[in-house]
Amino acid sequence: EDVVRLLQPAQERIAFADVGGLDEVKQQIRRRIITPFLKPSLFERFKRRSGGGILLYGPPGCGKTLLARATAGECGARFYNVAITDVLDMYIGESERKLHAIFEQARRTAPSVVFFDEVEAIGGKRQHSREAGSAKLVSQFLTELDGFGQNNQGVLILGATNVPWAVDSAFRRPGRFDRVLFVPPPDEPARRAILDLLLRDRPLDGAIDSAELARLSSGHSGADLRHLVESAIDEAIDDSIDQGREVPLSMAHLRAALKDSRATTLEW
Ligand code: ATP
Repeated sequence: EDVVRLLQPAQERIAFADVGGLDEVKQQIRRRIITPFLKPSLFERFKRRSGGGILLYGPPGCGKTLLARATAGECGARFYNVAITDVLDMYIGESERKLHAIFEQARRTAPSVVFFDEVEAIGGKRQHSREAGSAKLVSQFLTELDGFGQNNQGVLILGATNVPWAVDSAFRRPGRFDRVLFVPPPDEPARRAILDLLLRDRPLDGAIDSAELARLSSGHSGADLRHLVESAIDEAIDDSIDQGREVPLSMAHLRAALKDSRATTLEW
């Protein structure tokens, strides 16, 4: 079925340790999402409603998707990554049907985490060319979210957007996306942590100084850093081919890649 194709459960399982920086955001998610998920009885004892989704917002490439995936990993849950633009369908009723099928599959395969990227595209102010029956789709989404308390046991909903002001305000009520967490561009220590993650298990020459690279890469998102490291690795591979021996990744490779790399969070 087409909808099931949309729901490719992610590849290998990752944990918070695989996400660099973002310590405060991780702590919030642990407290508000993971603990209620893993220890529902504590919340029942205090008669504190758990559940409800979290909306992550921030510049592109700074780890929203990665965090959602890691949240699933931390919960021991299946991870579904859904781009709202893939749900939108020009035929009447089709978008609602797809959305319902997604929630159904998540409930059937619980524990699961469903991550909706580009949440603003579901309603909001921005007009979408493929959009059809957007008010109906919003209400379908709300129905599915509200179904949460009763039959969404073991289903966690996370959303992400780069444009929080464009998200339909009905999504922000209690029990829906009632918590909004900012996923900021990485500061210098976070960039160092991300670089260390990106460089682990690679053939490195002894002199790699991730602290210096972090200092030189202000404005870079995690995705920019990944691009930078991958370009440097390509150079190391080319050198290895040219020289007929393994040439480990060096500061020279990384500094050269840094010259050509973009700091996209400055453009946000
Ligand atoms: P978008 O808004 O474009 O969807 P996003 O915030 O969801 O972006 P991700 O898809 O999570 O960004 O990040 C893209 C890639 O950049 C990740 O797969 C990862 O390789 C790298 N990356 C980004 N942030 C981090 C981070 N905090 N730690 C480690 N890697 C990161």
